[in-house]
Amino acid sequence: MDCCSHEGPTKGDAKFDIQKVADGVYAAVAAPAYKVNSNTAIIESDDGVVIVDTHSKPSAARVIVEHLRDMTTQPVRYVVNTHFHWDHWHGNEVYPAVYPGAEIISNQLTREAMVRKGLKRIQDHVRQMPAEVAQLKAAIAKATGDGERERLRDDLRMAESYLAEVTALKPALPTMAFERTMKIYRRDREIHLLFLGRAHTEGDVFVYLPKEKVVITGDALIGWTPYMGDGYPEDWAGTLDRLAELDFTHIIMGHGAPTGREWLGTFRAYVHDMVEAVREEAARGATLEEVQRRVTDRLAPAYEKPFSAYGDYRPWRAGLALNIQRTYAMVS
Ligand SMILES: [Zn+2]
Repeated sequence: MDCCSHEGPTKGDAKFDIQKVADGVYAAVAAPAYKVNSNTAIIESDDGVVIVDTHSKPSAARVIVEHLRDMTTQPVRYVVNTHFHWDHWHGNEVYPAVYPGAEIISNQLTREAMVRKGLKRIQDHVRQMPAEVAQLKAAIAKATGDGERERLRDDLRMAESYLAEVTALKPALPTMAFERTMKIYRRDREIHLLFLGRAHTEGDVFVYLPKEKVVITGDALIGWTPYMGDGYPEDWAGTLDRLAELDFTHIIMGHGAPTGREWLGTFRAYVHDMVEAVREEAARGATLEEVQRRVTDRLAPAYEKPFSAYGDYRPWRAGLALNIQRTYAMVS
């Protein structure tokens, strides 16, 4: 049971389990939600708080703000976005509204991706949500069991409130952007923002606290099979190798509970082995169907168990199939 999670004033789908990772450094681990929420990292310092990522909607960011009020009297000074995906920056607008002067930081590539792709995707959500709402209403009308109807009614409530939120969204783009590295120095803390190469997106930002030996990875490293739809499978393992050169013991990921270096090794090896296997099979002239079957057989013994144990929201094989499909399209 999550005794300490906060539910927002709107009774939305955002719930977080706040876990201490180091002194003044916390992971707000997102519970499963109808519209997925990313984790947030909370970093306290002597003159203000740094937040990493803001979830899929403002109501979720407000849940974090409520929690911050219990934790500290300091204002939020900086909000970092690790990449341009909706579930990591749609809540941005909340912070400058509650904490005037708060700056939003990302790297130049991610800011450009938000402008080029992210803003358009918000409009896609606004257009697509009414159909999702209509589908849920039709499913409720057809539902047979009470339990199923109740679950669908909950989903409908979430879908309708998400539609209202995304329609009213005031996208808050980064107010500061860096190229490769930006360092924030405080009396009691040093925060490095790093671009280490392409992986989950073209502009993934890693946040590194050298003294506390903590790294915050966004979705370049998660507790599930990675989402590669906007990703660079062939560059990914190399980027994680550069991450592995840093000295750290704790990892706060974009999704899933905080972890240690061992998981980085497993995840990096999965990405590397999947790409190599797809490349080899494609070079032999295998069709996508053949590649799917052979690569799954090759990878299952090593990776099905550890990924399943982490608690992916979908079966490991379903995540793998999507990863193979994306990689095959890029290498063949
Ligand atoms: Zn993402």
